[in-house]
Amino acid sequence: MRTVPGPTDRVVVVGAGLGGLSAALRLAGAGREVTVLERGPGPGGRAGLLAEGGYRFDTGPTVLTMPDLVADALACVGEHLEDWLDLVPLDPLYRAHYPDGSTLDVRADPAAMATEVERVCGPAEAAGYLRFRDYATRLYVLEMKDFIDRNLDSPLDLIRPSLARLVAMGGFGRLAPRVARFFADPRTQRIFSFQSMYAGVSPYDALAIYAVIAYMDTVAGVWFPRGGLHAVPAALAGAAEKHGVTLRYGTAATRVELSGRRATAVITDGGERLAADAVVLNPDLPVAYRELLPPACTPPRVRRLTYSPSCMVLLAGSTARYDGAAHHNIHFGRSWRGVFRELITDRTLMTDPSLLVTVPTHTDPTLAPPERQSYYVLAPTPNLDAPLDWDVIAPRYRDEIVERLEQRGYIGFGDAIEVEHVITPADWARRGMERGAPFAAAHTLAQTGPFRPRNLAPGLDNVVFAGSGTQPGVGVPMVLISGRLAAERIVGRAR
Ligand SMILES: Cc1cc2nc3c(=O)[nH]c(=O)nc-3n(C[C@H](O)[C@H](O)[C@H](O)COP(=O)(O)OP(=O)(O)OC[C@H]3O[C@@H](n4cnc5c(N)ncnc54)[C@H](O)[C@@H]3O)c2cc1C
Repeated sequence: MRTVPGPTDRVVVVGAGLGGLSAALRLAGAGREVTVLERGPGPGGRAGLLAEGGYRFDTGPTVLTMPDLVADALACVGEHLEDWLDLVPLDPLYRAHYPDGSTLDVRADPAAMATEVERVCGPAEAAGYLRFRDYATRLYVLEMKDFIDRNLDSPLDLIRPSLARLVAMGGFGRLAPRVARFFADPRTQRIFSFQSMYAGVSPYDALAIYAVIAYMDTVAGVWFPRGGLHAVPAALAGAAEKHGVTLRYGTAATRVELSGRRATAVITDGGERLAADAVVLNPDLPVAYRELLPPACTPPRVRRLTYSPSCMVLLAGSTARYDGAAHHNIHFGRSWRGVFRELITDRTLMTDPSLLVTVPTHTDPTLAPPERQSYYVLAPTPNLDAPLDWDVIAPRYRDEIVERLEQRGYIGFGDAIEVEHVITPADWARRGMERGAPFAAAHTLAQTGPFRPRNLAPGLDNVVFAGSGTQPGVGVPMVLISGRLAAERIVGRAR
C-alpha cells in the first residue's frame, strides 16, 4: 500500500462530513495533530439537520446500516458507541408497498422474513429468500475484506483467491437476472435489487456483486439513532473534539498550498494559512480537485466521470398520522424498468414514481412537537445533466409528489403539512455536489473499486481524499470506510 512519505505530524482535514470525521478520528487515535475545517455551521455535510417550528429533520441519509463502522470510528479514540448514540434496531426495516395494494415487511430475522415472504408470495419464494440471504452473505464476506475495506493501488490488487470465487458466484453478471434466480415474484425481485440505485446504477446494469448492498440492509439490519441520523456525525465530532481534534466550523478552505509534489498548507476564506504535513480532502472529489488544487492536478478521468441520478427531498412537519406506514416505506409504482430508463437513460422525471417515505417520528416522537409527525419523502430524479430548471419546476414537481402520496394512501397529506422544506438537485449543486448528484459518481464497473478515483491525488505526495467520490464509494458505511482508508494512507495500516 502506498503511504504518504515524510513527516505526517500535522494533518488538516477539509470537511466534517462523515468521511472527514472518520479520517480525523483515526488520525487523532494515531497521535496526529488534527484540525478539521468545515465551511458549514456544524458537522455532518450531507447528513445534515434542519430545525424548524419544533421539528428536527434529517436532510440526507435516513437508513443507517452497518453501525459497527460507527463504533469502529469511535473506538479509534477509545470511545464506545453506547456512550454516544442510542441506536434503535428497526423492525420492519422497510415496508414495501406495491401497486396491487399488497405490502411486504422486510425483516432482518431470517425466520420472520421467510414467514413474511411466504405470506405474501408463497413457500417457493420464501425458500428463494433463504438462498438469496446466504448468497448475499457470502458475497459480503468475500468483498468486504479484500475489495471494499482496503486501499487498492492498482487493478492488479484485485487478483486474489476471492476474485475467482466472486466470478464463480456470478458476481460479474448483472444484478437483476441474478436476483431473478432466487425470486420469481416481481415484488421480491424489486425489494432485493432496488438497492443498486443507492449506487446510481439500475439493477439491470449493476453487477451482481452489488447484491452486497442488499446484504447491508436486508440481512445485516437497519438502525435509527434517537435524535435522527444527524446524531451520528454529531457523535463523531463530539468524540473527535474530546480527543484533541480542533474543529473549526464556518471556515472554508479556499486552496491547498503546494510546494512541488507536497501540500504545505491549507488557506482559509479568512486568509489564514494552516501549515500541514498532510491534507485530507472530504468535499465532493471533482469539486475538491477543481476548487482547491491547481487545474493540472485533476486527472483526465475525473473530468469524464458519469454521475448517479439525484433526488428531490420533501421534508414535511404534519398534523396527520398514517397507521399503515412503518418507519421506512418504499412505494413502488407499476413501472419498474421504465423508472431506470427515465432517470438514467432519458434523464427525465419518473412518470410513475417509486418513492421512499420515512417517518422518523414513528421511532422517535421527540423529533416533532406533541401530536405531530414528520415525513421525509425522497423522489429519485435525474441529476443536473438533464435540462431541467429546478428553480422553475420544483413547486410543480412537489405538488405532483404530494398528489401521488395521496393516491398511495397518505390521505390529506398536502393539507396536513404545517412546516415544509424541499431540497432539489439544484440545491445539492449549490451545496457543492458535482452535477447536483448527492450520490456521487455512479458505481459503474469503470468507476468501481480500483477504477474509482483514487484516494491519493496522483502527482502529489500527501493529499488524500475521503468521501463518496473516492474508493470505496457512496453511502454512510462506505464513506466511513473511506475515512479509515484515507487515514491509513497517512499513518499506515494498523488494525
Ligand atoms: C438525500 C440523501 C439521502 C441519502 N440516504 C442515504 C441513506 O439512507 N443511507 C446511506 O448510507 N447513505 C445515504 N446517502 C448518502 C450519504 O449521505 C453520503 O454518501 C455521505 O453522507 C457522504 O459523506 P461525505 O463525507 O462523502 O460528504 P459530505 O457529507 O458532503 O461532507 C463533505 C463536507 O465538506 C464540507 N466542505 C465542502 N467544501 C468545503 C470547503 N471548501 N471548506 C470546508 N469544508 C468544505 C461540506 O460542507 C461537507 O460538510 C444519502 C445522501 C443524500 C443526499
